[in-house]
Amino acid sequence: MQNQVAVIGAGPGGYVAAIRLAQLGQEVTLIERNFLGGVCLNWGCIPSKAMIHAATLYQQIQHADRMGIMIDNVRLEMPQLISWKNSVIEKLREGINHLLKNNGINLIQAEATFIDNYTLELTSEDNEKKLLKPQKILIAAGSRPLSLSNLKPDGKNILSSRHVLELTEIPESVALIGGGVIGIELGQMLAAFGAKVTIIEMSNDILPGIDPELTRTLKKNLRHLGVQILTEFQVVKAENNIQADGIQLTIQKINTDDVQIIEASKALIAIGRRPNTRQLGLSNTDIVMDEKGFIKVNTRCQTNLEHIYAIGDITGGPFLAHRATQQGLTAARIISGYVDDFENQQLPSVIYTTPEIATVGLTENNAKKLGYNVRLGKFPLAALGKAQAVGHTEGFVKLIVDDVSDIILGAHVIGQGAGELIGELTLAMELGATATDVALTIHAHPTFSESLMEAAEAVHQKAIHIYQPQKPSVPDPMLKVTI
Ligand code: FAD
Repeated sequence: MQNQVAVIGAGPGGYVAAIRLAQLGQEVTLIERNFLGGVCLNWGCIPSKAMIHAATLYQQIQHADRMGIMIDNVRLEMPQLISWKNSVIEKLREGINHLLKNNGINLIQAEATFIDNYTLELTSEDNEKKLLKPQKILIAAGSRPLSLSNLKPDGKNILSSRHVLELTEIPESVALIGGGVIGIELGQMLAAFGAKVTIIEMSNDILPGIDPELTRTLKKNLRHLGVQILTEFQVVKAENNIQADGIQLTIQKINTDDVQIIEASKALIAIGRRPNTRQLGLSNTDIVMDEKGFIKVNTRCQTNLEHIYAIGDITGGPFLAHRATQQGLTAARIISGYVDDFENQQLPSVIYTTPEIATVGLTENNAKKLGYNVRLGKFPLAALGKAQAVGHTEGFVKLIVDDVSDIILGAHVIGQGAGELIGELTLAMELGATATDVALTIHAHPTFSESLMEAAEAVHQKAIHIYQPQKPSVPDPMLKVTI
């Protein structure tokens, strides 16, 4: 059976869904008003990681003398960094274009607007309009940054994440409003490039939802870079500081009279995302949205209208490219007549800071709230040969394990390569593995992955490279055979 499917948006949700739909024999039209790859490729994951990588390298080069590598006159040429970053984007965009062509997908460069539950109006850049009435529609239109009414990003003194990724000069100082993932990643990057960064966060800590033990370790590093962190503060007034060609913010500690003035060359607004629904014409349809305007879907990625599906950021958080992609693959299978379901539980999340943070599954607090009796397995990277050898000893692995079944409920890693390490633990959890399974898996030496095995051993007080005074908590599951 072949459906005519229209996919709106070619981000990591939409273009991946389009390819899988074509692989499964559907006739696919992909509609994109801007660039292939969406936010992720053009103004998100890839450009930010390219620039964060450069910032990390810049820091490492400056501190290479402790390994006897002496480098004089290290300097940063921002225009060259931006053009290198753009070349990476260009290459990947071309790759997507080839894949779409090879898979026989009909790509239309236009903006799609619903004019009723079944019809899309496509408006091209030169304002040509045409109508499309596909059998099924998959909305993957993504999200954009939220702004504050008194602080609208203008690319001059008030920046959004997008502007930061185009900076040709590092500002002297930055007032960063919002201590979530995007803000912290970009804030640390700017600090590593030499900006004086002040973080203003409304909640009582940065990176809400992350295990506080991990956040504590990261905060040490941020302070080391001279980053000031002000929590439970909100911006009450923002003015241009004309004399200093910068910005002046008045901030107030929540529920107090504590008012402070922050002066900075630029303000960076990173307070969250809102759905790209404005031009979609959803008011011409019966599609149901939540109170923030995100499209409501069931676990089959289906809206309340049977023939319309939605995936990725436009369905709300967590705002992660790999979530959009997985939802896209699920929706493609369901549209093609297979039974499938999108399960959020084993969704890893990586924060590209120094040290890197990666998590999957439950935090210790959440596991306890859900009524689990938990065992913890912790292993510090400082006790690892590889970490010492490469000079990245900061951080640890923390496993949350169910006391009864020994099944891993959550894994939290902070340190070098955490984002790569979390893959093994995600697979372990996906397969319902126990801590003992991970402990019994041979890990190559010397590698950072040994820290996962040691943390799994530590769950039962059997880690080798840290001293655990208590006796092992359970008999060794490998049966002792008496001959
Ligand atoms: P998008 O990528 O937003 O794509 C939607 C596409 O739809 C866009 O191309 C848009 O032009 C198009 N569109 C919208 N409306 C219409 C219309 N009416 N007609 C036609 N086309 C339309 N996530 C991670 O997992 N890892 C990271 O490291 C990471 N880093 C990030 C860093 C930054 C600075 C930012 C801003 C985001 C980051 N994200 C990261 C989040 C990630 O980019 C998003 O979760 C992801 O892009 C969402 O994919 P999507 O397909 O839902 O939407």
